[in-house]
Amino acid sequence: MSATPIHLLLIEDNALHRRLIQQLLKADTQLRCDVEAVERLDTGLMRLAQGNVDLVLLDLVLPDSQELETLWRVRLVAPQVPVVILTSLDDVKLAARAVESGAYDYLVKSHLKGASLGRAVRYTLARARARGGEWDSPMFRLAQQQFLKAAQYMNLDDNVRQRLLFPQRAQMVSFPFLRDDHSQVETVFGYRVQHVLTMGPTKGGIRYHQDVTLGEVAALATWMTWKCALMRLPFGGAKGGVRVDPTALSSSELQRLTRRYTTEIIEMIGPDKDIPAPDLGTDEQVMAWVMDTYSQQMGHAVPTVVTGKPVVLGGSLGRKEATGRGLVYLIEASAAHLGLELAGSTAVVQGFGNVGSHAARFLAELGVKIIAVGDVSTALHRHEGLSVEALEAHVAQHRVLGGFPDAEPIGNKELLELDCDILVLAALQNQVTVENAADINCRLLAEGANGPTMLEADDILHERGIFVLPDILGNAGGVTVSYFEWVQGMQNLTWTLDEINGRLKAILLDAFQRTLRRAQAERIDMRTAALIEGVSRVTEAKLLRGVFP
Ligand code: NAD
Repeated sequence: MSATPIHLLLIEDNALHRRLIQQLLKADTQLRCDVEAVERLDTGLMRLAQGNVDLVLLDLVLPDSQELETLWRVRLVAPQVPVVILTSLDDVKLAARAVESGAYDYLVKSHLKGASLGRAVRYTLARARARGGEWDSPMFRLAQQQFLKAAQYMNLDDNVRQRLLFPQRAQMVSFPFLRDDHSQVETVFGYRVQHVLTMGPTKGGIRYHQDVTLGEVAALATWMTWKCALMRLPFGGAKGGVRVDPTALSSSELQRLTRRYTTEIIEMIGPDKDIPAPDLGTDEQVMAWVMDTYSQQMGHAVPTVVTGKPVVLGGSLGRKEATGRGLVYLIEASAAHLGLELAGSTAVVQGFGNVGSHAARFLAELGVKIIAVGDVSTALHRHEGLSVEALEAHVAQHRVLGGFPDAEPIGNKELLELDCDILVLAALQNQVTVENAADINCRLLAEGANGPTMLEADDILHERGIFVLPDILGNAGGVTVSYFEWVQGMQNLTWTLDEINGRLKAILLDAFQRTLRRAQAERIDMRTAALIEGVSRVTEAKLLRGVFP
């Protein structure tokens, strides 16, 4: 219990509820708090403006303010103070939207109990403190908000809800690597996060990017959990990352960095523990170095410690292109659902690395005209369509799209807003936001990247009738073939490419149909439906395994 009392402001017009909440908080032995209660929002805002409030418990329907406006006004006066909202049972949508607008948590008034109220307050304060530190990132906030929204719709067990908000394990390391001049030693930060260990070993990529933080890796690990569960794979979610710009390193520097990072996280990984794979900024060569470093430490070859490795080292046929291929299988299924004829339709692809280039190639094979592509260096537009082969050849030689002839260079903003049938996002997070969601001009938004759409933007896209293939479904082809690679490695078997693609398609289409059916039946967006599919499976497993000890 905290030594200094928490200052809690309760803004609630119902006298009965005010009294009940005050009594429950007073009786909570794990909390020491002063509760100040007011009936009206204007009084509450005046109190907030004076400062020294640690948390607000807020009824959204007050005599002088209604619904989300109540929350917005509180956040305007005290943006740093965490808010837990009080809702009635029939306000599921309102609570979900309040979470999207920045509320930390919600409590259903008719279900108020001392345990859940006290815990919501304690956990919210813990999360608010974490936000101030390394955990905080827009991506982790997004992952938590998406989860809380799904949890609200599915009326998720409160014990499980609180348990799943943060990852189970996280390791943060700082380590050196030698530059090629053999005199400079760079020190960088690395992370490995395991979100849920309930489902089996954990699984997730390793990202090399200059903006990697613990919060970003935690968000990616969280999404991996829902993705694996949605695909019904026997894995929990994990992710790793190093805060470094890989494009500024030579191949030998990248190798030394990878070997040292692997050594730093070696206790966490292993074929039965946690199995890394490629992600942004890493590829099969990096996986080969991870495998070799791990194997050197074990004294024998351990190919199953990573997936996405070269085929000659035990990699799976079809793994390299699996994310792009899977995305295109799902685009085909979405197009059939929307009545969109793919041959002759148009697509814009943001990101031309592993996911984007393969997606572009498979779309072109289906007769889709790729009218624009973009990467870190430039974006290119050609109304008559671009040759994917020519783009690939240019990138193979120059690493990036910049300098490609025969196309008009445009900006990233313009790229995303081009009129097209299919917009493929295969680069970074945070691309479709509340600022540009109204200007996105596609029928189908296919997310190959993780976290490219912000939560408020989701609502706008949904209202505008844009069909979204959410990331945990759209890019799940990668982890699915990684699973095949791991299974083949564990059994010393090799499957043919046809077998792999056939199984991949079956798994993805099954997840697509389940998600679509749920979205239609419950009148919710595809992302929330996909999350509910994943979260339900993890919840069932958690409840069956129970709490240790
Ligand atoms: P990659 O490194 O191979 O390619 C990334 C691409 O994004 C490159 O073309 C790069 O130039 C571009 N890019 C980087 N910064 C950009 C910016 N600011 N603006 C526009 N473009 C930018 O990475 P990848 O493996 O293709 O991963 C792309 C996304 O897909 C990531 O979000 C990753 O998490 C996700 N993803 C990848 C896999 C996989 O199997 N590789 C699986 C699931 C999800």
